[in-house]
Amino acid sequence: MTYQELKSEEQQYVMNTYARFPIALDRGEGARLWDVEGKEYIDLASGIGVNALGYNDPRVADAIAEQAHKLCHVSNLYTTAPMVQAAKKLVTATGMGKVFFANSGAEANEGAIKLARKYSYDKYGEGRNKIVTLRNSFHGRTVTTLKATGQARFHDFFFPFTEGFDYAQADNLDSVKEKADASTCAVMMELIQGEGGVLPLDRGFVKAVEALCRERDLLLIIDEVQTGIGRTGALFCFQNYGIKPDVVTMAKGLGGGVPVGAVLADTSCCDVLVPGTHATTFGGSPLVCAAANAVLDAVNNPKFLTAVCEKGNYLRDRILGIGSPDIQGVRGMGLMLAILVEPEKRAGFVNALLEKGVLVLTAGQNAIRLLPPLTIGYADMNAAVEIMKEVFA
Ligand SMILES: *Cc1c(COP(=O)(O)O)cnc(C)c1O
Repeated sequence: MTYQELKSEEQQYVMNTYARFPIALDRGEGARLWDVEGKEYIDLASGIGVNALGYNDPRVADAIAEQAHKLCHVSNLYTTAPMVQAAKKLVTATGMGKVFFANSGAEANEGAIKLARKYSYDKYGEGRNKIVTLRNSFHGRTVTTLKATGQARFHDFFFPFTEGFDYAQADNLDSVKEKADASTCAVMMELIQGEGGVLPLDRGFVKAVEALCRERDLLLIIDEVQTGIGRTGALFCFQNYGIKPDVVTMAKGLGGGVPVGAVLADTSCCDVLVPGTHATTFGGSPLVCAAANAVLDAVNNPKFLTAVCEKGNYLRDRILGIGSPDIQGVRGMGLMLAILVEPEKRAGFVNALLEKGVLVLTAGQNAIRLLPPLTIGYADMNAAVEIMKEVFA
C-alpha cells in the first residue's frame, strides 16, 4: 500500500490522537529507516529514544526471536529466567535494591508514586502523601501521571485528576523547600527535562534536593524514562549527577523497541510493595525481558557508554560548526541533544529535514530534539549534518 492509501484508512479506522509526520515507515537497519515508498532516512529520533541499539540489531532481534519460540508470556503467577536476569542486571549495575517491571514509562511512574505513598503510610500513617514535582516536567499520560506533570496544559478535560501533587521551580531550592511541607512523602523529577525542552538540571540543585530528601525522609524519585539506559553516556543519568535516588523509573530504551518499563528501588524502600498492593498482567514477560537483557548487556559496558559521550560531543560540535544564525545553541548530554531555534521557524526546519531524509523530534517551545540510536555511526552523523547544512543555510 502507498502512503496515501494507508493514510486514508488510518483516518477512517484509527483515533486521531497524533499529528503524525506524512510518511509510513516499513523497515530499518542500524540508524537508517525506509518508508513504504522506498525513501531512505537517517533516524535521529529512534522512536522517541526507544530503539537504543537501532534497527534490526542482531543481539535484540535474535533474543526476541529465540524467546518467542520458547515462551512469550506466562503472567506474574510464575517465575521466568529472563525476568530474574534482567532485574539482577539492573540491581547489580546500580547498587540499588529490587525491581518491579511495568509496561511503559507512565506505568513505571504510577508504580513509583504508589511505592512512595505506601512507604510513608507504613512509616508515618495517613496524611503524608503529597509528591513534589517540577514545573515544565513530563511524567506520562495516565490520569495520575498527567497530574504529576508540572505543565498546566496537561491538566484539562479529564477531571477529576488524582490529588496530591504540587510543583516547584526547577533549579530553585527555596521553591522545593516551600512546596515540600509536612504532608509531603516524595520529590519526583527528571534530571534532564525531556519533553519540556531538553533542559538539564543544575548539579548543585540536584545535590541539594537529595540532601533535603534525606533530612526529611522524603523519597527521591528520579524519572529516567528518557534519560536512562545509556542515553546520557552513563547507564543512568543519576550516575552523572553523583546522587543516590530512592527510586528510579525507566522505560523507553530498556527493551530496545519492545514495551517494557521498570521501577528500581533502593534497599530502604524496595520491600514496600507486597502481594496484593501492586501488579500487572503483562509486565516483565519473558519476551520483553529477553530484549531488555540484550540491551543491558550491550549498553552496560564502559566502552559503549564512553562512545555515547564521544558521539554526543562530536554531533554537538558538528552542528554548532554549521555556523548558521538560525542555530541559537545546542544543549543536552550524551546523545540526548536539542538544537535551539526560533519557535516560529521550528516546524519549517523539522519538515525540511524530513523532506531531505533526516528524522528529528521537537521538545519545549524552541528545541529540535535529537535522540539517535546509541549505536549510530560517525558516517550517519556526518550525513545528517550535511543535510542540516542545507536546511539551515
Ligand atoms: C516518555 C516519558 C514518559 C512516559 O512514558 P510512556 O512510555 O509514554 O508512558 C514519562 N516520563 C518521561 C521523562 C518520559 O520521557
